[in-house]
Amino acid sequence: MIPVMRPVLGEEEAQAAAEAVRSGWVAQGPRVAAFEEAFATRVGAAHGVAVSSCTTGLHLAVHLLGIGAGDEVVVPSLSFIATANAVRYTGATPVFADVDPDTGNLTADTVKAVLTPRTKAVMVVHQAGVPADVESLRALCDPLSVDVVEDAACAAGSTYQGFPVGTGALLAAWSFHPRKLLTTGEGGMVTMDREEWAVRGRRLREHGMSVSAADRHSGGAAVVEEYLETAFNYRLTDIQAAVGLVQLGRLDGIVARRRELAARYHELLADVPGLRMVRDPEHGTTNYQSFWVRLPDDSPLERNDVLAELASRGVSARRGIMASHLEPAYRGHPRGDLPVTEDLTRRTLILPLFHDMTAGEQDTVVDALKASLGLPVATGGVR
Ligand SMILES: *Cc1c(COP(=O)(O)O)cnc(C)c1O
Repeated sequence: MIPVMRPVLGEEEAQAAAEAVRSGWVAQGPRVAAFEEAFATRVGAAHGVAVSSCTTGLHLAVHLLGIGAGDEVVVPSLSFIATANAVRYTGATPVFADVDPDTGNLTADTVKAVLTPRTKAVMVVHQAGVPADVESLRALCDPLSVDVVEDAACAAGSTYQGFPVGTGALLAAWSFHPRKLLTTGEGGMVTMDREEWAVRGRRLREHGMSVSAADRHSGGAAVVEEYLETAFNYRLTDIQAAVGLVQLGRLDGIVARRRELAARYHELLADVPGLRMVRDPEHGTTNYQSFWVRLPDDSPLERNDVLAELASRGVSARRGIMASHLEPAYRGHPRGDLPVTEDLTRRTLILPLFHDMTAGEQDTVVDALKASLGLPVATGGVR
């Protein structure tokens, strides 16, 4: 089977993890601090707070804003369910807004339609790596004192208005799950420019301790810590951070390769009438974390039947981005109409795209998709 995604991991990551183990320091320590600094710099932020996942990072971000019961946070339903769940963890209510059909992202118009006097924040997602138009959201939200938080889980290496996604973000949360471009197995980061949030974020991820465990162990003198507030254990380990530091050095190469493969998909699928493909928006560039396509309106097969057809031809594709409001966990949750979200979640699928994908594998995917849409396919050796 041709997989939908495959992490880029080499001997260097194995070595780095082994060195962390041999050093005897495996919990959060010096490698986490180095990874925070390097990652934040790469995405244009002053500070990085490493956490155990993007999900815990999103929770930390909403918590840092003091959001809780009685508050509303606007989120896209068209996202991995963790986006909405992170709001629920604080006791606040996620309010679903619809998305743009070309980017799959929230827009100022879709957000405006669901704002209420209780809205405290908007959690905008750079979905599948496609940068959202954050400036237009800020223009809408700033005068209302509504904070814009970024779910940048998929967006490492994407750009917005010529700068890395994350630049100028109030708070952005990132994922290092293997389904994303950079991986530490599990892991995440929250980036920001405000130092006081970095200080409090580091405390919140470590039980609310006044002095981090790492500082207590590395300092000579005996220090007795205090627990300043009820907090969490959202720590990343030094083994993971060691892997992350190596991965970060690969980011530019990974993005370049994904964009090259995506450009080839665009060429090979250009002749499929009515097929819409994810692409760069006007305001930035995507890292193509996922290469999604929306089936033509007159597709002879429904999306799930296309997935089955692809599987029978050795291609492991995936359904497109989920819609949280359609899951049992959100049954009965109040919401307005979400027509674009429902169209995209029903009609899109994600095609295989991974760093060491060969032209032959890509041809197999293209032929399988065309065949499932009843179109003629190039026979072997034509390309
Ligand atoms: C993957 C993903 C998450 C969750 O990331 P984890 O690191 O697995 O917790 C959150 N939001 C979006 C948009 C994602 O794609």
